Amino acid sequence: MEDDKAENFEYQSVQVLHGVGPAVAEKLKRLEIYTIQDVLFHLPMRYEDRTRLTALGSLQMGQQALVEGVIDHCEIKFGGRGRRSLLCYLSDNTGAIVLRFFHFNKAQQNNLAAGKRLRCFGEARRGATRLEFVHPEYQIIQSENSVIEKSLTPVYPKTEGVHQTLLKKISEQVLAKINQGFLIDWLPEPTLRQHQFPDLVDALSHVHRPDKEANVFALNECKTREQQRLIFEELVAHQLSFLQARREIKKITAISLSVSKADYASFKRCLSFELTRAQERVIAEIFSDIDKGHPMLRLVQGDVGSGKTVIAAAAAMAVINSGHQLAIMAPTEILADQHFVNFEQWFSGDVCLLLTGKDKGKSRQQKLERILSGEAQVIIGTHALFQEDVAFNQLVLLVVDEQHRFGVHQRLALREKSNFGGNARTRKKNIAPHQLIMTATPIPRSLAMTAYADLDYSVIDELPKGRKPVNTVVVSTARRDEVIQRIEKACEQGEQAYWVCTLVEESEVLQCQAAEVAAQQLSSELKKVRVGLVHGRMKAQEKQRIITRFKNREINLLVATTVIEVGVDVPNASLMVIENAERLGLAQLHQLRGRVGRGGKQSACVLMYQPPLSEQGKQRLGILRETNDGFKVSEKDLQLRGPGEVLGTRQTGLMQMRIADIVRDEHWFEAVKDTAEHLIERHPDAVKPLVRRWLGKADRFVNV
Ligand code: ADP
Ligand code: MG
Repeated sequence: MEDDKAENFEYQSVQVLHGVGPAVAEKLKRLEIYTIQDVLFHLPMRYEDRTRLTALGSLQMGQQALVEGVIDHCEIKFGGRGRRSLLCYLSDNTGAIVLRFFHFNKAQQNNLAAGKRLRCFGEARRGATRLEFVHPEYQIIQSENSVIEKSLTPVYPKTEGVHQTLLKKISEQVLAKINQGFLIDWLPEPTLRQHQFPDLVDALSHVHRPDKEANVFALNECKTREQQRLIFEELVAHQLSFLQARREIKKITAISLSVSKADYASFKRCLSFELTRAQERVIAEIFSDIDKGHPMLRLVQGDVGSGKTVIAAAAAMAVINSGHQLAIMAPTEILADQHFVNFEQWFSGDVCLLLTGKDKGKSRQQKLERILSGEAQVIIGTHALFQEDVAFNQLVLLVVDEQHRFGVHQRLALREKSNFGGNARTRKKNIAPHQLIMTATPIPRSLAMTAYADLDYSVIDELPKGRKPVNTVVVSTARRDEVIQRIEKACEQGEQAYWVCTLVEESEVLQCQAAEVAAQQLSSELKKVRVGLVHGRMKAQEKQRIITRFKNREINLLVATTVIEVGVDVPNASLMVIENAERLGLAQLHQLRGRVGRGGKQSACVLMYQPPLSEQGKQRLGILRETNDGFKVSEKDLQLRGPGEVLGTRQTGLMQMRIADIVRDEHWFEAVKDTAEHLIERHPDAVKPLVRRWLGKADRFVNV
């Protein structure tokens, strides 16, 4: 009995711990902490060294430190914009610092009286005259020998209502029992030896409570052997879950679609251009996938302008010829419209249908009927396609375009809903649609294999012939007049241009207002130029009307917000000006720039910034000037911003690992793959517990 209990301890509810009742357990759920094991694998994200006092005189800028001193005096100062701050001058016999508080009350102010001895923990920053601590944690010291911490202080990821003290208290209780043998170390002995990894219990004890002698710098960079072991194990768990998902796919049935040589040849004859070799290769990969009788799950990555749309069209052709249905989902109405126009040209008859939020009432009802009857075979739309109660006749392929714009969470949501409103014919038979996911986010291959390991992966690594790289220049707004002249000249010569307005604020209203102001100003400055305006708050029809006029060259200069980032394809446009370019991410700038350089003409992109530009800002914009290659841009972007931002996962919490970082820890990838495969073959019993341990409830990959 006793033994049995010990064995299952890791899976018991946190409520068996002292001080954890139903209310606290409820709060812990927000951190995905349900069981004892979850407590152990809720790992600190950084460490603070509060084990020793640092003399004020030896404090370095940027250093986090525990200091102690006596208050010399306090005063209230008024800074810029009438902002009050409380300054408290603290000194010991080696030096002095300032404590700065922007928020304080009377009681606090009275408490910080001259002569009192304070102990503070904070980060030293440069102040006007000496180093400062802004809003440090502090306590007033009564006796000379009050205790200080004995081990480094772990700092846990927390959330509202869950404080560090609680997380410390519960981990303390679990760590006290960690040696009782309930935790199974699933990593094979030889792997541990090969990489000189400590065992699991040692690794966890160290990571939660590193002793005083541990190197806090190494810990904060995740460089200790103990951390490396946990990083490795976490990556293995993710890899296992991907491999598992792939095996699940193989068990599911999909409609097999085969394409004859003759059909493919006649499809190619309809195009107004020759496919590139890269496009042909990717199409062949897709044709081979959809022929197999299991759902295709393929990610096609191609730089902006590499010609992804026609790849979707080739897949559509296979579906149409087989008499089934496909859906194409685009992130914006502009792009959905654009696709609809293209597909209508490629596929004659009445098989294409556009369904967006603007379809209402009777017209919508008619469209839904055409979808249900199967009369409409190519259904193009925005994500409204999902939210609405759309019932398909027999959906066999789902294409998601520009998936990076949807975010990773939506990709998985898609997957879950892949029955997609239900298929009149297939729903009951456990038949899943094929999925083709297209993205312009050019991520390095190794990273793609980690981030999208559950997908097959194709790259279009070649641009259509005759494309000339876009000339990119970086100029200050001080040179706005020159830029205006340049636009005037280009338009005189029959060329067309974009003027893109950006804003820091998330507010779409402000962004649209800024674009309106810019459009007015530009039309008064450029008398001979026909200026048009498009932004996100315009009605879809109005947007479409303006873009069509731009396409037909009735408008020379299109002023726009970033809504044109995807879906505007006007090959004659050869000049783009981006205002306040320093405010946008590199990937987004690259994507915007992709709107020009689509024809055979030499195109240019002017990145205009508001001075002063920071050193990093200069560096970032410089990258775009140097290269037109989306891969290179993205690599730099990764270095500067980290994978969460680039892959769009930061906000969604997905792919967010507990301790591993797919960029920093990329060098483990090969070894991780080997270990995962070894475990599946030799220790299949390890797979489930490892995935559960690290992915917890987030193990969403089983649902294909
Ligand atoms: P992406 O979606 O990858 O950014 P698109 O599919 O919108 O790119 O294609 C960009 C432009 O290139 C379109 O005008 C398209 O018609 C054209 N295009 C695509 N493939 C080729 C090709 N092989 N040769 C010439 N032009 C092409
Ligand atoms: Mg596209």
